[in-house]
Amino acid sequence: MIANTKPIDILAVRRDFPLLSVTNRNKPVVYLDSGSSAQKPQSVINAMADFYRTGYANIHRGIYELSEKASQHYENVRAEVKTFINAKSADEIVFVRGTTEAINLVAHSFGRTNLKAGDEILVSEMEHHSNIVPWHLLREQIGVILKVIPITDDGEINMDAYRALFSPRTKVVAITQASNVLGTINQIKLMTQIAHDHDAVVVVDGAQAVPHMPVDVSDLDCDFYAFSAHKLYGPSGVGVLYGKQKWLEQMQPYQGGGGMIESVTFEQITFAKSPHKFEAGTPDIAGVIGLSAAMKYIDTIGKEAIFTHEQALLHYTQAKLAAIPGLRIIGTAKSKVGVISFVLEGIHPHDIRTVLDHEGIAIRAGHHCAQPIMQRFNVPATVRVSLGIYNTEKDIDALVDAIQLTKRLFA
Ligand code: PLP
Repeated sequence: MIANTKPIDILAVRRDFPLLSVTNRNKPVVYLDSGSSAQKPQSVINAMADFYRTGYANIHRGIYELSEKASQHYENVRAEVKTFINAKSADEIVFVRGTTEAINLVAHSFGRTNLKAGDEILVSEMEHHSNIVPWHLLREQIGVILKVIPITDDGEINMDAYRALFSPRTKVVAITQASNVLGTINQIKLMTQIAHDHDAVVVVDGAQAVPHMPVDVSDLDCDFYAFSAHKLYGPSGVGVLYGKQKWLEQMQPYQGGGGMIESVTFEQITFAKSPHKFEAGTPDIAGVIGLSAAMKYIDTIGKEAIFTHEQALLHYTQAKLAAIPGLRIIGTAKSKVGVISFVLEGIHPHDIRTVLDHEGIAIRAGHHCAQPIMQRFNVPATVRVSLGIYNTEKDIDALVDAIQLTKRLFA
């Protein structure tokens, strides 16, 4: 397929998202919180409603036409995800609830099968709690050791320190491809090569990368890759774990239930093959259908076009914000997705957020589930702009006006 590199028709894109015409505190909404969760295009909403209206049945269970079709539909999406991230096989795609569940699955299933007390796991200082807490739990359970990859003042991985952290006990590197606070895009391919040179597996948190840039897991060569549909303009409650087949095949499931077995007696259980052995219970079937529509939407606009649009807006936003006296941007890496965290001298981020909210601006302030980053930069919280496909310079101008208003109110 030839990549669509046509520039985005931003007005047409905005019309695709019904929520952009609602109000926030009686003002037209300016949605700058896509990093938390992105809005949904009409095509995603329609695909899910149509499925519930005319195609719904449980999957992999009923031997009747509706169920067979729903099962086929669901499995087709697995193949679509394979193409979307360029995995080698649809069997490498596990449907989960989201990035959080995907990483927990790896920590539990890979961890319990392959790790023992004293083995070392490297996690970076810029991880979301979803890529810290599951490893912490594993430490409590089996005694693995967590080592922290430090970041620079610009919010980039300190690559020398990364290289120096490896020891013969290093078994896992858990790293985000793009930071949800700093925006930094990490050099996953290089970091993976380094980890593989030390026989460590690489688990990538792709929650903030997949919506904003082309991702090719075969090229990255990572062992596991996790992302959530709801940040990708799809529904909440569904996500993807990619895992190399050699790992998925040898890992034990950590949840048991219907749909993941071949046979069950009270004496013995044989599991279904992966990926099904990791999908216990009835999944979010309509969510997977919605994910399919979201990926199609992105492919129609074009991943390169989305990246180009958001990069231009990122630079516009950073320049506008940097010109505001007293404003400090946290996260100044050379390579970033459209995530810009900032603090304003003398005004708490939560107070800024309150004023912005009353100006119609939907934006997040807090620790963004990444408290170690707050500690690293010595701030209690940040205000975070996170851009999506539908944002415009006008949105950023409205933000800047509202920040100026905040400064006047708190002067
Ligand atoms: N990782 C990163 C970098 C994130 O930004 C998020 C959500 O904000 C997550 C993981 C968790 O994603 P979810 O809540 O969809 O599981």
